Amino acid sequence: MNNLIFLGPPGVGKGTQAKMCAEKFSIPQISTGDMLRSAVKQGTPLGVEAKTFMDKGELVPDRIVIGLIAERIGEDDCKKGFILDGFPRTIVQAEELDKLLSKKNLPLKKVVSITALDEELVKRLSGRRTCSSCGEVFHLMFNPPKTADKCDKCQAKLFQRDDDKEATIRERLKVYKSQTSPLIQYYGNKRILEEIDGSLEIGKVFGLICDAIGNSR
Ligand code: AMP
Repeated sequence: MNNLIFLGPPGVGKGTQAKMCAEKFSIPQISTGDMLRSAVKQGTPLGVEAKTFMDKGELVPDRIVIGLIAERIGEDDCKKGFILDGFPRTIVQAEELDKLLSKKNLPLKKVVSITALDEELVKRLSGRRTCSSCGEVFHLMFNPPKTADKCDKCQAKLFQRDDDKEATIRERLKVYKSQTSPLIQYYGNKRILEEIDGSLEIGKVFGLICDAIGNSR
């Protein structure tokens, strides 16, 4: 069963790679960041609470994201497998996930840890622009939209996520190092960790990931 986790600092391309793998293997990509942004956009109580943390580049409280994930992996489309993108991000979340998965008898197949240097991540994130309507992601240098500030797919306006501004990016990287990177050892000890160089070109990274998770390209 393809139950996978994609781990990595902000900007390393884990969302892009998770999306590509999800399409290839016809399993859902479950991004807690996307779920939270959608709750913020809808103005739900959960979204209002989460926004205060997200705007500062901090992690939202474990209980919020654990609740979201517990509900989501219980849905029918997860029966064939899933990719967790941006979850877990703390040891507490990883331990709670272990409990949830063992209750459902769903073993984790692999944890893909994607890495890159901080300066590369800052460069990538500060140029990122997101569509305000469909969520498509562009990059001013690496993947520019055909018309400035407009989405190629739906023509809606592009915007820069508040948490993609440089000061917030630095804070997110700090948070990743202190709270999320211990998960590399956590999953390394379980012998399911695969480390991938995220500084390579997108297609190359994808190939390495496919090889690492043991599915032919
Ligand atoms: P992302 O799109 O994955 O970079 O997530 C954007 C923001 O959402 C993060 O900076 C956190 O504030 C919040 N977030 C997403 N996933 C988690 C998580 N698993 N635990 C805590 N906060 C999260």
